[in-house]
Amino acid sequence: MSDMILPGRPRLLLVDDQPANIRLLHAVFAEDHDLFMATNGRDALRVCSEQRPDLVLLDLRMPGMNGLEVCRAMKADPALQEIPVIFVTGFSDPSAETEGLEAGAVDFIAKPVNPAVVRARVRTHLTLRGQSRMLQRLAYLDGLTGVTNRRGFDEMLAREWRVALRNESPLGLILMDVDHFKAYNDHYGHLKGDATLQWVAQTLATSLRRPADVLARYGGEEFACLLPHATVAQALQTAEYLRERIQEGAREHVASPVAPVITLSLGATARVPMAIDSDARALLADADALLYRAKQGGRNRVVSAEPGEMAQ
Ligand code: GH3
Ligand code: MG
Ligand code: MG
Repeated sequence: MSDMILPGRPRLLLVDDQPANIRLLHAVFAEDHDLFMATNGRDALRVCSEQRPDLVLLDLRMPGMNGLEVCRAMKADPALQEIPVIFVTGFSDPSAETEGLEAGAVDFIAKPVNPAVVRARVRTHLTLRGQSRMLQRLAYLDGLTGVTNRRGFDEMLAREWRVALRNESPLGLILMDVDHFKAYNDHYGHLKGDATLQWVAQTLATSLRRPADVLARYGGEEFACLLPHATVAQALQTAEYLRERIQEGAREHVASPVAPVITLSLGATARVPMAIDSDARALLADADALLYRAKQGGRNRVVSAEPGEMAQ
């Protein structure tokens, strides 16, 4: 059951300022988990960001940055907030426990650690996390094409926007729309239309080269691609590549005035979120306006612009 939910070995981060405690936990989990270790709060946060563990076993009392502070920092970071934290503490104090749970921890384990207990608790929380991830994936899949649906896209956009705001990094977005698809349905029938939308989705999905890039079905025959860290130039380059892949796929469309094959119009943009921008709507509006220009300009093309050029 848990194998199905969590493919591969679970990845745990063990944090404790006492090497003896880390050794003990290491012995409990080493056989069937991938383990990362940290002996202070700063290192714990760094390893979390770099390794994205499935769960963190966190010592409450550490010199310098303590466990509570580490946990709060994780919960405030959109990239880390989903990782479950279990506090390990020798401090049997109900108010410390309350504080820990309020900081966002899922559980508490008392020292001295009992191997059977810590194994069982970790297993439970890994399973819960795996199940909620699986349900989330299902709820976020488009039934026709199997790519992320609009709901999943909206969530991912909001999350990547917060990550980009925090890192002051650019976030790229491409909106694309199949050209003359109404005419396609009229000529080939709606069922063939559905199959062609599946083909478009698969062609686009397999053309994305960076693991963080996300393709979504944005609406009927519209798709969106989210490109973390991409500049306008990179978004334009990716969009042009996607346009070529679809055209070269040569899926017949004799009813199209643009080309005898299925083609896309695309709007590509990117921006570094500013604190004053409340959300990602401006990015979406820019991409939508650029897509509109691509349609007006004759279709089967990419139009891109820097945010500052949008009014022109
Ligand atoms: P344009 O080049 O301006 O985008 O022209 P268009 O015909 O593609 O645009 P329009 O918005 O007029 O029509 C979109 C068509 O896409 C109409 C609609 O029936 C079709 N469509 C939307 N969703 C689906 C779907 O899930 N399956 C099928 N077969 N067709 C769909
Ligand atoms: Mg269309
Ligand atoms: Mg459309």
